[in-house]
Amino acid sequence: MHLKSLTLRGFKSFATATILRFEPGINCVVGPNGSGKSNVVDALAWVMGEQGAKNLRGGNMADVIFAGTSKRPALGRAEVSLTIDNSDGVLPIDYTEVTISRTLFRSGGSEYAINGTSCRLLDIQELLSDTGMGREMHVIIGQGKLDEVLKAGAEDRRGFIEEAAGVLKHRRRKEKALRKLESMSGSLARIEDLSAELR
Ligand code: ATP
Repeated sequence: MHLKSLTLRGFKSFATATILRFEPGINCVVGPNGSGKSNVVDALAWVMGEQGAKNLRGGNMADVIFAGTSKRPALGRAEVSLTIDNSDGVLPIDYTEVTISRTLFRSGGSEYAINGTSCRLLDIQELLSDTGMGREMHVIIGQGKLDEVLKAGAEDRRGFIEEAAGVLKHRRRKEKALRKLESMSGSLARIEDLSAELR
């Protein structure tokens, strides 16, 4: 599995559609200060589901949408697509090439898609969760991140190991099931009250 290409449209400084093509092995992005190198990394994190605006170096999520310059008006949406070569079948989906996409509208709505079909954020997170490209983004090591890992407490360190071992997905499912169970118990108690009143 390797990243094949990344397409940015209206994402941060990339107002017009920009396609970066990657080859297997090491790829380098070079450019002068402020030319958008970190924005490319932000786009990668974003399309893989990053939810924290701060992790994308912004105040709120709408900051990823091209904000305009003196020559160009701001845009109403940001869109990023990441194409992954899946010929070795690492991603649990029957396609040799998988494109995940994320769009955010300035009005607030957002969309996710896998190979052009609309999906939920959860579907993208689950698709990537056993590949090392999971939700916690340990695959992206930003400036100062190594320090963070070295200084992490026991709980956070366990999180890193669980993500690497693929346990996190099951923990999330368990938490979701427990929340459902709790809400069902509430409904059950309510039904019991009502039936007691009717008796
Ligand atoms: P350095 O080498 O200094 O780290 P860099 O190449 O990593 O720089 P980035 O931090 O990726 O540069 O890009 C910064 C540029 O992106 C700034 O000029 C900033 O104004 C621009 N930028 C960030 N967000 C937006 C946005 N929403 N709309 C337009 N431009 C933006």
